[in-house]
Amino acid sequence: MKIIVQKFGGTSLLTDERRKRCAKKVIELKKSGEEPVVVVSAIGRKGDSYATDSLLNLVDIDFSSREDLDMLMSCGEIISAVIFSNILQKTGYKAKSLSGEMAGIITDNNYSDAQIKCINAKYIKDLLKKDIIPVVAGFQGKSEEGFITTLGRGGSDTTAIALAVALNAERVEIYSDVPGLYTADPKIVKGAKIIDKTEYEELFNISYHGAKIVSIEAAEMALKSDDLVMELKSTFSPEKGTRVSKMVEEDKVYFQTKKFARAVTHIPDITQISIELEKDIDEDKRRLKIYRVLAKKDISLDMFTISPGVLIFNINSKDRDKANEVLKELKVNYRLRNNCAKISIVGTRIHGVPGIMAKIANCLYRKKIKIIQIVDSHSTISCLIDEKDVNKALKTLHEEFNLGNN
Ligand code: ASP
Ligand code: MG
Repeated sequence: MKIIVQKFGGTSLLTDERRKRCAKKVIELKKSGEEPVVVVSAIGRKGDSYATDSLLNLVDIDFSSREDLDMLMSCGEIISAVIFSNILQKTGYKAKSLSGEMAGIITDNNYSDAQIKCINAKYIKDLLKKDIIPVVAGFQGKSEEGFITTLGRGGSDTTAIALAVALNAERVEIYSDVPGLYTADPKIVKGAKIIDKTEYEELFNISYHGAKIVSIEAAEMALKSDDLVMELKSTFSPEKGTRVSKMVEEDKVYFQTKKFARAVTHIPDITQISIELEKDIDEDKRRLKIYRVLAKKDISLDMFTISPGVLIFNINSKDRDKANEVLKELKVNYRLRNNCAKISIVGTRIHGVPGIMAKIANCLYRKKIKIIQIVDSHSTISCLIDEKDVNKALKTLHEEFNLGNN
């Protein structure tokens, strides 16, 4: 039995016409003798009636428990699953909608951002044996204490990949309004190209640094899968999209030998915090206190720089007020720099390649773009810049590294 997981995003399900277009892809697979397992997101985006954000607007969040909020958010995907299954049945195919729990997905108790701990794929397999197409509500599961959980925003991708792994699927197809993984955001960089083939590590790095094609958690989960093939495609256009897999052809496995830059990405809405500390032997202890207090408030920190008397890091701008409060209470001397963004050159094995930083610095300098902070890893170099310079920076770096022609 060749199982293929097909996941459809919210915009792909917005209208009856679009849902039928998605259903057609499922039926085509079924007709070719493969076994589709469908995963759906909630219908539409912010503002559309059944989208996750619209559901959240139905209650006063301050007066809802986390368990209740997850119950509420899970409804969007459940509605989608029922409607989608209905379309398949109207077309003459046997189908069954399933909540995350019914699909056997067990998570931890971290409501609104739960992690999948285990999948009991038996029920789905039983349906497949009876020739029934399972249509699974994405983004949800059941906690160990028995309540509905959700998997964090964008979590339907995670459901799809986790199910594909659990079912030992041949392939997972992720359909959205984007035709593939790009070398840069195509809305900003005209010459951005779809990366036709890549490996999971690269998908993870590019997603982690800002590309929005799959959720970061999903990309991370896919990293662990051994021989899964993933296809990222548009529901609306016929491009082949991006194929993600180990580089295998029959008995041969290929390893990446070249070192190169692959994409330029960006993450907006960053606030930089610079703290001045007294320079003495207790400096590290004071830093530690700051990390701890911010962690307690659930504020995630990124891009650390320390030097004598200095601590610099970045936070998501949504946490700015919370951070301000905490730092005032700690009576430390600090400055905020608002409206920053992180741009990253993401590549394969670019550590140890001389000249990459020089190239980045040279081309940003030429365009009069100020680099506020830099951080690197074995596959990325990231610069913090002012948000107003993002488009210019992406265009110039994309051109400088010739990413459109790789
Ligand atoms: N509906 C959820 C969200 O908006 C999950 C998803 O679409 O993947 O985040
Ligand atoms: Mg999504």
